Amino acid sequence: MSNDSNNKSSSGFNRRDFLKFGALGGLIAGTGGLVTSCADGSAAGRNGQNYSGKAKYIIFLVSDGMSHGTLQMADLMSRRMHGRPSKWISLYEEGKVTRGLMDMTTGNSNVPDSAAAASSWGCGQRIYNGNVNMAEDGTEFEPILPIFKSAGRKTGLVTTTKVTHATPAGFSANVPRRGMEDEIAQQYYEREFDIVLGGGNIHFSPDRREDGRDMYAAFADKGYKVARTKGELGSANGFERTLGVFTDHHLPYSLDHANTPDLAENVPTLAEMSKYAIDNLYASGDGFIMQIEGGRVDHAAHTMDGTGLVYDQLAFDEAIKVAFDFYEEHPDETLVIITTDHGNANPALNAAGSRYDDSVPNFDKLQSFTYTNNWIMSELNDSSSISDIRSRIGTATGIEVERAHAQMLYDALRGNFRAAYQMKERPANVLGDIMSNHTSIAFTGSVHTADYVELAVAGPGSSSIGAFTRNTDLFDLMLEAAGVEAPAYTG
Ligand SMILES: [Zn+2]
Repeated sequence: MSNDSNNKSSSGFNRRDFLKFGALGGLIAGTGGLVTSCADGSAAGRNGQNYSGKAKYIIFLVSDGMSHGTLQMADLMSRRMHGRPSKWISLYEEGKVTRGLMDMTTGNSNVPDSAAAASSWGCGQRIYNGNVNMAEDGTEFEPILPIFKSAGRKTGLVTTTKVTHATPAGFSANVPRRGMEDEIAQQYYEREFDIVLGGGNIHFSPDRREDGRDMYAAFADKGYKVARTKGELGSANGFERTLGVFTDHHLPYSLDHANTPDLAENVPTLAEMSKYAIDNLYASGDGFIMQIEGGRVDHAAHTMDGTGLVYDQLAFDEAIKVAFDFYEEHPDETLVIITTDHGNANPALNAAGSRYDDSVPNFDKLQSFTYTNNWIMSELNDSSSISDIRSRIGTATGIEVERAHAQMLYDALRGNFRAAYQMKERPANVLGDIMSNHTSIAFTGSVHTADYVELAVAGPGSSSIGAFTRNTDLFDLMLEAAGVEAPAYTG
């Protein structure tokens, strides 16, 4: 393909030689500028900053599928609800991060999937969508977590999706297809990452895995603490390798989580898991690299669920605060990267009514909603009546939708609804469009987009980030900032 997949293995390219001969500055020159190699082997950013080897701690935060409108709406919600900006935007306001755009193009598409997107950071290669740190010809690229583990650093994966899902896997696993999640769980076990927290019981339980293997027992045999509830996880008490798997599939959307007592009691929030992981790994004294993902922002966008989207982005924002609090205690030794892997559905607060100034009052209604669109949809099906539909929406939002709108969803649930843009015929998307009339949050569709994404970086190496960064540059930045040697790829 013409997207400069940069498969260094098949071209016989050797990364170590590449670094040795100082070509990195040349490669980067046309793509925004990252580092230039110095004669003495140290690295200096474009502003002469010497940061090589200074990052003892790396925290890489990903809000999966976060379009710009999502970032803006979470900030607006924070200001309306709490009277303060979101943490992410406050970092901009206070000038605490270097900010730019990033091109997330993968080996075969300008529209990335999460597996190839995370792999671009995880192994520094633009591979094909759907693959995890592996080229089409089967060549494996060593991901960043095993590389750091070999260098004596501790490693962590924290997410609100199944922990075996594409984004955490992109930092840590090698499989030809992202759906091979039983295998990814097996690789976590074999590679012995120190902290693994999220959902995905179906890939760990002997009753659910295809091979019948009890991954919990396997991890426990290696000395891991195994937690299945928030209570079992507790808070960090020194360094202790930990596997925490809290739900069968993904963790619940944040708003549903907060308003469902059983979930609120037993499932930790992203911020709570992040705090546990940071405190725990810090206690080792060895330094660490950690990925933290707000994974369901993407799922809310896929289902045109404005409520799920805004609340999950706010939950991610709380995790940013946890990470940044740690950074501010160790600013000279901590590299924090905050970004997203691609846009999704381009949600935004629209001037949807007859008056532009109706938008914010409409948006404010989200503050009284108790459940997401996904919660509404979870009990609707092709036998739901129009009154079932109206009542379910009313329970979640307090909004009485027009009968004609409920009829559209009724038809969509039976496969009988036509929209000019076919993407908007799916029942969840019909509900999403209906809700746009009430909240002013509207979507262009319900799939990933090719947008250049937001990138915010603090700590050693951050000022080398230019206004426009290539996704694979972050792999080099992490290695360089930590002083960890890159693997050599020989074709
Ligand atoms: Zn997605």
